[in-house]
Amino acid sequence: MRLQEIVASIQDYIPGVDAEPLRKAYAFVRHHHQGQTRASGEPYVTHVTEVAYLATKLRLDLDSVLTALLHDTVEDTDATINNIREEFGEPVAKLVDGVTKLSKVNFQSRAEQQAENFRKMLLAMASDIRVLLIKLCDRTHNMRTLEFLSESRRIRIAQETLDIYAPLAHRLGINWMKSELEDLSFRHLKPDVYAMIKDRVAQKKKERDKYIASVVKLIERELTDNGITGDVSGRSKHFYSIYRKMETQGLDFDEIYDLIAFRVIVPTTMDCYSALGVVHAAWKPIPGRFKDYIAMPKPNSYQSLHTTVIGPQGTRVEIQIRTPEMHDVAERGIASHWVYKEKGEGAEASNAQLQLAWLKDLVESEKNLTDPHEFLAMVKGDLFPEEVFVFSPRGDVIALKYGATPVDFAFHIHSEVGRNCAGARVNGQQVPLSYKLSNGDTVEIQTNKQQKPSKDWLEFAVTSKAQQRIRAYLRSEEREKSIAVGREVLSKDLRKVGENLNKLIKSGKLQEVGESLGLRDEEALFAEIGYGKLTSKQIIRKVCPQVSAIDEKLAREQTTMERIFSSAARVFRDRSGIKVNGLDDVVFRFAKCCEPLPGDELVGYITRGRGIAIHKRGCPQTLSFDPQRLISVDWDSDAKTQRMIRLRVLSTDRVGMLADMSQSISATGANMVTVHASATPDGKAMNTFEISVESTDQLSSIIRALEKLDGVIRVERASDHRGGRY
Ligand code: MN
Repeated sequence: MRLQEIVASIQDYIPGVDAEPLRKAYAFVRHHHQGQTRASGEPYVTHVTEVAYLATKLRLDLDSVLTALLHDTVEDTDATINNIREEFGEPVAKLVDGVTKLSKVNFQSRAEQQAENFRKMLLAMASDIRVLLIKLCDRTHNMRTLEFLSESRRIRIAQETLDIYAPLAHRLGINWMKSELEDLSFRHLKPDVYAMIKDRVAQKKKERDKYIASVVKLIERELTDNGITGDVSGRSKHFYSIYRKMETQGLDFDEIYDLIAFRVIVPTTMDCYSALGVVHAAWKPIPGRFKDYIAMPKPNSYQSLHTTVIGPQGTRVEIQIRTPEMHDVAERGIASHWVYKEKGEGAEASNAQLQLAWLKDLVESEKNLTDPHEFLAMVKGDLFPEEVFVFSPRGDVIALKYGATPVDFAFHIHSEVGRNCAGARVNGQQVPLSYKLSNGDTVEIQTNKQQKPSKDWLEFAVTSKAQQRIRAYLRSEEREKSIAVGREVLSKDLRKVGENLNKLIKSGKLQEVGESLGLRDEEALFAEIGYGKLTSKQIIRKVCPQVSAIDEKLAREQTTMERIFSSAARVFRDRSGIKVNGLDDVVFRFAKCCEPLPGDELVGYITRGRGIAIHKRGCPQTLSFDPQRLISVDWDSDAKTQRMIRLRVLSTDRVGMLADMSQSISATGANMVTVHASATPDGKAMNTFEISVESTDQLSSIIRALEKLDGVIRVERASDHRGGRY
């Protein structure tokens, strides 16, 4: 293949096209691929020139032909995409980049659903349809030269071609390419059957040629007699379609009669129907074999009339009737809609429009298209805006909702993988679990039995499967903790009255008590105690009503307990201000050590029998706690919560000082509950305020307001162990 042939071929359909860029690109690839050879031993440059020539056979535009020449430079030579951009401009650089990206993905699975996903992935990655067309040219030439590769590679590439690229060529309506790709794949995948069919077809070649010539003559005469001029030809079907026929219909080679397809090309659509009438009048049509793809085009916009008749020698004859335009579409598919103007100006726009029109036709003409959204999405320019296609390490293609992360991927693979998902690598690189996956990414999940789903995952997981599984896990985890806490509390309190929990379980007594409270089993009962919905006292009364002293004893304990967190309980009788992993109705109190305020990040600690203590996240106290007992809690953003805090203000002891301070506090909207002022030995005043505030922001503004006052020396939050201001 010489440059001149490519230039001649493109000038054939784009008259006056500037050949200079082609010469430049040819020199560029000769320079960069210099010294490289193909498996066949030929210089590498033969491959890219053949691919460019194929692109002109599809009558692609100049940018596409340039891209075909350059398509392997970025992947296989020292040339970069920036070099391409500088030398040939942005549009060509974009196309080359697209082809390079497609070349990097390869397909291994055999399952049909996998193949469909992979085809979608390729379509999604090749957002410009020209990228896919160039890729198909590339694959066609690679298939033509496949015999030089090792057997395992031949089989892999042939299978991929049969599963992926031939169907894509078909979907894009490029018939000759689809047939050629099928036959080439077939030859490498089933060499024996291929050789047999080829041989049998060749054996009777002379006989068949004679037969074809006679039938062509007969049809031509019938047409001429009826005043129709047409071009009639006949040829053997391609080997793979013969093989498919043998397979699907369970026939031997000799039992297949319609090995030859005759084609009649007539000037107009009217002539097509007239020619059909002539054929049916001359020979008996076989019922059920007539198809009108003119009135009802195929999804890939193929149009033709098909019929099978009992022919001249009593054999079945398959005939296709169409116009030259329909023939062009059948051979070149989507590319047949490219139109070129003399000057090239506006060509791009009109091509884009035609491309869209073609796709629109596709959508509108085929009502029972299995997935119309697919093509509607294509018309919009983004093929699959709602999906992202990624690889598993095994090479399976997985379709996930757009925006999916490794966590979504992990839960898609298996719930267990999701639950223990500790890290992820994408294309070999470590990424955060919140990483957004892109088309063609290979995703590898690292698991660790210690790892458990975290609430944070809900922030970035997008698939409903992952979301549901994470929530379910968090709920069960809470329940398990509550069960453990409830069991412990009950066991301890039972010991105080001389009872034994295990004995009560064994005797079935506890089950009975649970049932009387409408609870399914003991675990449910423990959970209720753990959540604070039931007290152990209520249970003990039911278990041993005979022990009267117990009540008193437990009552005493209760008082002590109440005293411990009474101050919090008094202010926060309304518990709706806190969410414990979405659960409300739990007993909780705010820890004295850090006194969290709305807006602070929180962590909950399941105390032994005293409900949940709520600390600021990072509070030093919590570091010594058993991590198994820590749970996620958050402010309930729907509820306005008031929290009580104490402020100590050191000031000069001037007249009106206290009034000024009170006024400043009230001005922020906060509610001052108590105030206590005392003189210090050095003649200053220490004022302690109990204030009900609703957020840290409000507290900050109170402090700022106080600090601005004349005579205020220091403002600090009381009972703050960290010694800071708040
Ligand atoms: Mn290539």
